[in-house]
Amino acid sequence: MLRLWRTIRAIGRVAEPAPAAPTAAPAAADFEGSVQIRHVDAGSCNGCEIEIGAAFGPVHDAERYGARLVASPRHADALLVTGPVTRNMAEPLRRTFEAVPRPRVVVAVGDCACDCGVFAGAYGVVGPVREIVPVDAEVAGCPPRPEAIVEAVRTLTGR
Ligand code: SF4
Repeated sequence: MLRLWRTIRAIGRVAEPAPAAPTAAPAAADFEGSVQIRHVDAGSCNGCEIEIGAAFGPVHDAERYGARLVASPRHADALLVTGPVTRNMAEPLRRTFEAVPRPRVVVAVGDCACDCGVFAGAYGVVGPVREIVPVDAEVAGCPPRPEAIVEAVRTLTGR
C-alpha cells in the first residue's frame, strides 16, 4: 500500500492543463456549473465513443469542469449523440430525448451526427441527429478530438 502511495505521489497530476474556458452557451445559466450527460449511440462506428471515453478519462478529465456521464436520461440535463441516426435508433433517440427533464440540451458529436458523414445515403440511415431531435450544439470531426468534446461540454457547464 505504501509503495502504491509513493508511486502515485511520484507520478503526480497527469491531466492536461486546463485551457482557457470557452464562451458559455445560453443554456449554461440553467445548469449552474454542473451538467449530467447521457450518451446515445444512434448508429456510430464507435470511433466517436473512443474519443468521448478519452474526453472523460484521466488525461482530459471533463469531470473537473462539472460534467458527468450518467446511466439514465431521467438523470440527465444533456444528451451527447453520436453516429448517423439509423432506422432502428430513430425512435429510441426520440424517446430518450423525451425522457430528459427540462431544461435540456442536445449535442451532436462527430461528422456522422452532424451530417451523416461517410454514411450519408446509406440504406439504413434516416438522417443527421438534428432531423430527429432539436440539436443545440455540434462538434465536427471524424472522430472529433477529445479536446473539442471537452470544449463543447464546457460551454454547457460554463466552467
Ligand atoms: S464521425 Fe467518424 S468516428 Fe464518428 S461515428 Fe462517424 S465514422 Fe465513426
